[in-house]
Amino acid sequence: MSPQSRRRFLRQSSLVLPALGLGMHRQSFADFATGETIAWKNARILTAKSAPIDQGTLVVQGASILAVGDVDAVEIPANAKVIDATGKWIMPGLVCTHSHIGGMGAADGSAPIQPGVRILDSLNVRNSGFKRALAGGLTTLNIMPGSGHLISGQTVYCKLRYAGKGPSTIDELLIRDADGAGLGGLKMANGTNSIGESPFPGSRGKSAFLVREQYIKAREYHAKVVAAKDDPDKLPPRDLHLEALVEAMQWKRIVHHHTHRHDDIITVLRLAQEFNLRVVLHHVSEGWKVAKEIAAAKVPCSVIVIDSPGGKLEARDMTFRNGRILDEAGVRVAFHTDDWITDSRVFTRSAALAVRAGMNRDRAIEGLTIAGAEMLGLENRIGSLTPGKDADFAILSGDPLSVYTRVLETWVEGQKAFDLSDPEDAIFAEGGTGAGSDLDPFLCCYAQPWQMGGKQ
Ligand SMILES: [Zn+2]
Ligand SMILES: [Zn+2]
Repeated sequence: MSPQSRRRFLRQSSLVLPALGLGMHRQSFADFATGETIAWKNARILTAKSAPIDQGTLVVQGASILAVGDVDAVEIPANAKVIDATGKWIMPGLVCTHSHIGGMGAADGSAPIQPGVRILDSLNVRNSGFKRALAGGLTTLNIMPGSGHLISGQTVYCKLRYAGKGPSTIDELLIRDADGAGLGGLKMANGTNSIGESPFPGSRGKSAFLVREQYIKAREYHAKVVAAKDDPDKLPPRDLHLEALVEAMQWKRIVHHHTHRHDDIITVLRLAQEFNLRVVLHHVSEGWKVAKEIAAAKVPCSVIVIDSPGGKLEARDMTFRNGRILDEAGVRVAFHTDDWITDSRVFTRSAALAVRAGMNRDRAIEGLTIAGAEMLGLENRIGSLTPGKDADFAILSGDPLSVYTRVLETWVEGQKAFDLSDPEDAIFAEGGTGAGSDLDPFLCCYAQPWQMGGKQ
């Protein structure tokens, strides 16, 4: 890279992505959409923005939502193909804020802090997990490195563009900004997962110390870059790890933080305030113990509802009431699969169990859709059935919170990407031959002895 382009790289808001090979503008899937207009009539529609519509119409034009509303209020364009969806439910495509589909090969065992490493470089676009996710009604994933490190690398935000022949490369799934750069966050973790043998920290205090130390270095690095202005002789040697931390401090990367225990959660809030991090708390098993503090910090939570309380010590006080308590305290709540920890095909049951434990039903639907979109900074494009947004939605046989309900179709940017009536697709919903992954199942949080210092 020339000194000029390097300076530009270091200054620009979308600074890191062109240098990492994502800058080449690739037309989005939406650019190739046919522009066909389709209207679904008489469905029960959950918009995730307003009250459920008992008998509604959804109109999609090309890759975008054209109109949604009561069947009497929406005018269907004359050229539209009209589908009678009586008895069916339509909801926004589900957003999973925390998934490990497609591989987890980011940071290795050489160090506990590796923010320059990207999950993108390890993803297998042909992994059947993507199609299982579509079978569950999911359309957007935040694919993350694991939780065995304090900082395990950069995440990617993906759309499941598997319509037709499907993608050939992972690049075709990326959600991009206006400049064509792929979007993603930064994965962090604390608690027992990231504690281990040296060079991993041996205690919670040391964990926070190591993180603090690196963010201070990143701050100093950025100050040098700014002070160097356009002088290539004064620029510090390029440091990909520190660049990613600078991006986090500038809110160009949302920090997605694995944390379970109440005191670990407070440590995350402390570090986030210290270094101006835009953070989403993930798992948050004991969030209910510090709901007031999380609300005061205005930090959203992506909770895991289904995880064995015996799976790890930190989850023993996990409760299905977590979502309700956090929501009632004023915390924005989403759910996640942590796939492979829980199966994307039955993601909706996370919301159902939260409702069974008293969570407001509309909030729980939002927790599968728009709240997750907000936590990825994508709420203006996805997460609700709103005119102008991407035409990402699922058509279901009934109430999404019933275990008896099936996802019939999943549409991504106006293209049908899953159809239960197609036997080739159905196998990903029902299991059996061909539904298995070509990768070994790989548990997120306690599968790697080298990550865990031999502990679970
Ligand atoms: Zn985790
Ligand atoms: Zn995870």
